[in-house]
Amino acid sequence: MVYVRILPANRSDRWEQEGAGVPNVMAHRIDMLGTGNAFLPHGRHHSFAMFDQRHIIDAPPTALAGLRRNGVDVSTVETVFVTHVHGDHVFGFPFLLLERKYISDREGLKPLTVVGTPFVKERLTHICHLAFPGSLESMLNHVTWVMEDVGQLSDGWRWERFEVHHEDAVEPHGYRFEHEDGASFVHSGDSGPCEPLYDAIERSALAILEMGFPDWVPSTHHHKPRDVHVLSQRCSTPLGITHTYIDDASPHPTVLESEFPTFPEHVTHLRDGARFEWAGASWNLLTN
Ligand SMILES: [Zn+2]
Repeated sequence: MVYVRILPANRSDRWEQEGAGVPNVMAHRIDMLGTGNAFLPHGRHHSFAMFDQRHIIDAPPTALAGLRRNGVDVSTVETVFVTHVHGDHVFGFPFLLLERKYISDREGLKPLTVVGTPFVKERLTHICHLAFPGSLESMLNHVTWVMEDVGQLSDGWRWERFEVHHEDAVEPHGYRFEHEDGASFVHSGDSGPCEPLYDAIERSALAILEMGFPDWVPSTHHHKPRDVHVLSQRCSTPLGITHTYIDDASPHPTVLESEFPTFPEHVTHLRDGARFEWAGASWNLLTN
């Protein structure tokens, strides 16, 4: 098992301090472009992750805003991995296609692959027709749909998709990613505690884990602070918490909660803009 080095916010200069030289610009990275649940706690977009600046996980309503806020050229997104079809995870998809068609890929030259189940293809196609009738057919025809549960990208990342415990009607899944150079991480999608997810986490160097509910909600479809605590005792894999119900710093009245639970050291409550970088054997959290 490898450990992530969780750095406080003021330690982003560790390279100089530890004499490790300049970071390799090609190092794998995971950018959290959003970390909030469906209700958008203050200071957060919907949970939204991008890795190696070319693959995104889900396409939430705030996806385009998140890419813009971070200066990402939308046409450089090559792959969309879809965990499930709840609105807060996919309703931003039509806007990504619309932007590419009219702004960043007018010639339709940039490849776009969507990885998801056949149900994902059906649902994403439907919401594109609802959102912009007659406008996105050419973009949809241009998409490469990959529906296999396991596969490999041209840059060396392999994925495996597994079922998780969430609303069955939206075909909920998580993903485990592993690069041929050894980097690995899990994205939980939306899920309460379940063995397929925990098995994947125990085999990985990092888990991006949702925590969508406070402890008092009577449902098992999301992780709650108590569940995260139990998992952290069972498993030493670093956990980065996203899809949270807790506000980030804000001058506005609290939406639901603004106090973070206390977790062990290998659990980090992520903020929008958090960035992990692969250091050869573990993930460093460089910004949070
Ligand atoms: Zn969901």
